[in-house]
Amino acid sequence: MRSPAQVIKQAHRLLAEMDVNGPPTPVVACVAHAKLSIEGRFSLGQLPPGEYRALIDDEVFHLAIEHTSGLLDRTNSRIYLKAGMVPGRRNFVTLHEVGHGWLPWQRLHPTHPDGEQNLDPDTRAREEWEANVFAAETLFQLDWFEREARDLPFELQSAMALANRFEASVHASLRRFVERHDQRAVLLVVERYPVVRPAGARHRVVAVHWSGPFRQRYRQWKKPRWLPTALFAPLRTKNVAVHFEGELPLDTGNEVVSMALQGFRNEHHILLLGRPRDGQRLPRRMARSIMHTR
Ligand SMILES: [Zn+2]
Repeated sequence: MRSPAQVIKQAHRLLAEMDVNGPPTPVVACVAHAKLSIEGRFSLGQLPPGEYRALIDDEVFHLAIEHTSGLLDRTNSRIYLKAGMVPGRRNFVTLHEVGHGWLPWQRLHPTHPDGEQNLDPDTRAREEWEANVFAAETLFQLDWFEREARDLPFELQSAMALANRFEASVHASLRRFVERHDQRAVLLVVERYPVVRPAGARHRVVAVHWSGPFRQRYRQWKKPRWLPTALFAPLRTKNVAVHFEGELPLDTGNEVVSMALQGFRNEHHILLLGRPRDGQRLPRRMARSIMHTR
C-alpha cells in the first residue's frame, strides 16, 4: 500500500526532471518525458475494439469506454483520450494516464489500462486513486497552487483565475482551493439538472469537499443531500454568480448558521462555494424548510 507521500514524491520527480517551475504544467512534454505518446488520429471510442490491443474482449471494451475519459495502453505506451473534453479536464485526464505510466510500481504491470480484468478491484481502485493524486499534484505543481491561492482574495473568482493560470478545470481548481484553504469553507457539487417531484424541483448533491478549519469547527454538520431549485436562481441565465440572494443554512447539530454562497455552472454540475457567516445564527426551522436531508 503506497502512501500519498510516495505518489507526491513521484510527481515531484517528474516536475524536477523537466525543470518545471511555475504554471502551466507542459502536459504534452510530460507525456513525452514519461516515454508515452497520445493517440492523435482517433479519440477514445472511435476505434474498433480490435485496435485497442490491451483490451481483450468486447465487454471490457464497452465498459471501459463508457466509464473512462482516458486509457493507457501499456503494450504500445499510448494514451487514448475521449473526444470533446474541455482543455482543463483533458489536461487532468492526460496526467492521470501519465501517472499510470510513471509511477514505478504501476509501470511494472506487464499489460493493461483501466478496464483491466486481471487486477483485483481493490488494486484497481487504489491505482485509480494514485493516478488522480499524481494528476492533481503535477497539474497544480505541488504547493505552488497554494502559495498563489494564499495571495488572492477568498472568492470564487480567485479559484477561476487559478484554473486559467494552471490550465485546469474550474471544478478541480475550486476543490483544491477549498480543501487547502486556511479559512472555513465548503464546496458542494450539485447535479446541474433537477429531479422534478410533486413537492417541487430539487437538485441532488453528489459530493462535498471542505477545508480543514471548516471540518474542525463544524464536525457535526449535517450535509445536505438535496437542494431546492429556487436556490439556484442566480445561475438560471449565466454560468457564474458571485452573489446569491438566498442563503444556505448550515445545521451544525446545536446551532444553525448562515452561509454565503457563490456558484459556478458547467456542463454537468453546479459548484457552490459556501462560506459560513460565523456568528450569525438562524432559527432552526429555517434549516428544515430549505434542506432535504432525507
Ligand atoms: Zn486510470
